[in-house]
Amino acid sequence: TIILGIESSCDETAAALVTGDRRILSHKLAGQEAAHRPFGGVVPEIAARAHVEALEPLVAAALDEAGLSLADIDAVAATAGPGLIGGVMVGLVTAKALAMAADKPLVAVNHLEGHALSPRLADPDLQFPYLLLLVSGGHCQLLLVEGVGRYRRFATTIDDAAGEAFDKTAKLLGLGFPGGPAVERAAASGDPRAVPLPRPLVGSAEPHFSFAGLKSAVLRARDAGTHAEEDIAASFQQAVVDCLVDRTRRAIARAPDATALVVAGGVAANRAIREALQTLATANGLPFSAPPLWLCTDNAAMIAWAGAERFAMGLTDPLDIAARPRWPLDPDAEKVRGAGV
Ligand code: ATP
Ligand code: MG
Ligand code: FE
Repeated sequence: TIILGIESSCDETAAALVTGDRRILSHKLAGQEAAHRPFGGVVPEIAARAHVEALEPLVAAALDEAGLSLADIDAVAATAGPGLIGGVMVGLVTAKALAMAADKPLVAVNHLEGHALSPRLADPDLQFPYLLLLVSGGHCQLLLVEGVGRYRRFATTIDDAAGEAFDKTAKLLGLGFPGGPAVERAAASGDPRAVPLPRPLVGSAEPHFSFAGLKSAVLRARDAGTHAEEDIAASFQQAVVDCLVDRTRRAIARAPDATALVVAGGVAANRAIREALQTLATANGLPFSAPPLWLCTDNAAMIAWAGAERFAMGLTDPLDIAARPRWPLDPDAEKVRGAGV
């Protein structure tokens, strides 16, 4: 089977063709960094307009590179949420139009499921159930991935997401946008022990996360004016690593059935985080799996792959399915929606 995937939930417009046996026939991506940089963050209205302009040529380019036409594909998969609603609607409406025109089924993909299943695209040996640390711009969760569409959440952040913490720290240090890669670059030449920073929630019984206090501590360290920004960046990154490792260790103890420790989402592109989790997995006798860096940050190959996994199970969606700005992966979170945690 061949699936066309479309992603447009934040500031990456992307289209990809992926097969059910894990071949990535083509993947095209247009970032919008330049458009958002003057504002120091993603501006929803600018993002939605940019998706409108970029998407159709990207789909054409993806088909062209694979040497295929719409008639050759088996289904159209698109992110249907969660994310910036304008952008999600652009991608979903485009997918619906393509599906209707070519008489192909539509698969509405949860963007988080795209991240959650992306390790299986890269790693054919990765079996369910696995313990997933999902760390991205909007999320920081520990989940047991029991199967396609089957997620059990152990923990989430009580304030900021991990990627958000990187982005805010980059902004505070004047390192630019997007923040994660900029902080990682600056940290490479800094001393991770130079600045004493808190490790919020480390040692607490529930494996939840908190990053807001860390960000405030970075602000105080900056204003104190006694530290080089590389040292603040390195110390911040080390604090995040320590929090993620401690919380994940806690979750491993709760997931005796997990066959592997897995990390996914944009923050999983951070090398220090990958190395620390690899070490944690090894210490616990678990295989470790992380997608290649380009598959961690938003892309359409992971949406096409999640679409392929759903399509293989007969999970297609009606053409009137709605875009969802919020869409938690686990059913429990639906019940407590708006309750914070
Ligand atoms: P979500 O997936 O939760 O809806 P999103 O799609 O905006 O949010 P992703 O594209 O998955 O987020 O990830 C982007 C985030 O990853 C940003 O916060 C970015 O700073 C962070 N990030 C990217 N590369 C790195 C890196 N090398 N180190 C740390 N953080 C990184
Ligand atoms: Mg982005
Ligand atoms: Fe994402």
